[in-house]
Amino acid sequence: MLDKTLEPSALVLIDHLVRLSTLRDRDTLLAGVTRALADTVSAREVATFSLVLDEDKRYWMPLTLCSAGGPMKVVTDPLRADVTTMRPMESDPVRMRSVETLETTSEPPNEPSQQWRTVFPVVLSKDSVVWGVVEFASAQALAPADVVAVTRLLQVFCNMLDVLDYSECDALTGLWNRKSFEDVFFKTMPSMEAALPAGALTEHRAPLVNPVFWLAMVDIDHFKQVNDVFGHLIGDEVLILVARLMRTSFRSHDRVFRFGGEEFVVVLRCPDHASANAALERFRRNMEAYDFPQVGQKTASVGFTQILQGDSPSAACERADQAVYHAKRNGRNLVCSESDLVDRGLLKADVKVGDIELF
Ligand code: GH3
Ligand code: MG
Ligand code: MG
Repeated sequence: MLDKTLEPSALVLIDHLVRLSTLRDRDTLLAGVTRALADTVSAREVATFSLVLDEDKRYWMPLTLCSAGGPMKVVTDPLRADVTTMRPMESDPVRMRSVETLETTSEPPNEPSQQWRTVFPVVLSKDSVVWGVVEFASAQALAPADVVAVTRLLQVFCNMLDVLDYSECDALTGLWNRKSFEDVFFKTMPSMEAALPAGALTEHRAPLVNPVFWLAMVDIDHFKQVNDVFGHLIGDEVLILVARLMRTSFRSHDRVFRFGGEEFVVVLRCPDHASANAALERFRRNMEAYDFPQVGQKTASVGFTQILQGDSPSAACERADQAVYHAKRNGRNLVCSESDLVDRGLLKADVKVGDIELF
């Protein structure tokens, strides 16, 4: 008769799967998967790296790290990531091979003091996008059963990312939707960053401490005309192309949301007012220069404001909205700064931060 008693290690794995299935946030899900992998596989260390695209180049962003018997560490908060400290994709041939062949890739140590490296590609089912890799450092090559367990766990991870995508992304443009905005907004609030010790697989440097974030509202000019003249399908195509222009105009750590209709929100990380203004101007010019099929030229009006300590999403949106309103009344196709307008006496300084009225 078949012995159906579960191995203790199988029970640990099932417990992890139960816990993972309760998670609804990408960061905690990744942390949970890293922990589950570390508990399942006999390895010295497990680390995750996502691939980020920044100005046409791809980089490895180290995200989580877990050493055998040690705590799970978050290495990088993507909103505070500094691409200048990341290694370019080509710099790591083992990881490169893994994401190019979509196969598990392993490399024996070159000298006795080194570890085996085993790299698993993580590929999202939606459009087969390579999300990144999971990498193990171990004294010996991973056992075949461990390789199977990791592959299955990563399949669960990808399935859950697909579900999150479904609830957090806008179906038409693929941008983040309004529902996911509040989460990101609150993650921009200043926080204490723990210093992390470097492990064998880490390639992290000091994170940016308390960077400055800006909120921009983008509204397409005279968009109703597109629908009226060319029909809704062409209107939808313009929205998709504007979303693509926004993705390519901003940096990898900036977040673009479709708020509804022809309105978009960008959460930008820029060191100062001038650089936020320059990034938004770059997008405005890219939009102005773009030749939309059939429709031709379309423009957008942009208003922006700094996200302040203790701010609330609705208060920050209202300030940016006032600046958009000013752009609309002054010829459209403009980037307007809320603080600039207040300084120039063009906007009443009834700035609200959170629920407290400051002025
Ligand atoms: P303004 O320059 O003042 O912003 O003018 P506008 O025409 O862009 O602004 P208005 O708010 O009057 O019109 C927005 C239009 O966006 C109305 C609606 O037909 C269109 N719209 C909203 N959602 C969608 C969508 O999902 N697809 C398409 N094709 N059109 C949409
Ligand atoms: Mg509008
Ligand atoms: Mg509009």
